[in-house]
Amino acid sequence: MIDTIGFDGDDTLWHNESLFSMTQERFRALLAHAADPADLDRRLLEAERANLAVYGYGIKGFVLSMIETAISVTDGRVPARDLQSLIDFGKAMLDHPVELLPGVAEVVDALSRRYRLILITKGDLFDQESKVARSGLAGRFDAVEIVSEKDPASYRRVLDRHGVAAERFVMVGNSIRSDILPVLALGGHAVHIPYAITWAHEEADPPDAHYRRLDSVHDLPPLLASW
Ligand SMILES: [Mg+2]
Repeated sequence: MIDTIGFDGDDTLWHNESLFSMTQERFRALLAHAADPADLDRRLLEAERANLAVYGYGIKGFVLSMIETAISVTDGRVPARDLQSLIDFGKAMLDHPVELLPGVAEVVDALSRRYRLILITKGDLFDQESKVARSGLAGRFDAVEIVSEKDPASYRRVLDRHGVAAERFVMVGNSIRSDILPVLALGGHAVHIPYAITWAHEEADPPDAHYRRLDSVHDLPPLLASW
């Protein structure tokens, strides 16, 4: 019944949000003199949300949002050396090794022998391509799709391009908003594997429609075999 599996990348195959969260910790420390942590977090999230339409998802947009927030909370008095620190935080994130989540390498390897696998990830093209290459998983996937937004229309385009009927497709990911809801809306299947941390922008109420939630990717092959 299912012949194609879509995998999300960030926080499904490899760690990602932990890196943002670590960097945000450094951002709070750098600006502790100008704003309290809760206020700073709120203003940074506001800037990130407003900037999504301008820069899209990814580290570069995050860095520009940190810079914008730093300028705003210091009333324009943030020193250039602190702005340099924010730029360096971003470079360190981009250079950070890709760390696969536990079990991912084995499970993807096993599933690649029985199903067509498509990696569907959103964000900055250059950074995502680099992460896919460094993950060592590229060879296990029949296709890699890097999209700027994960909504029903973008999933529809991916499925059409690969000639996959939604009812034969299952999407596996950590985000209810990006990986689960749009695929269910198309009549596809979805498996939610939450990550330890969820970016506030990705938070969404679980759908009423039928979908599965697993604690670990290890549970995915038996679940698919039982369908
Ligand atoms: Mg994700």
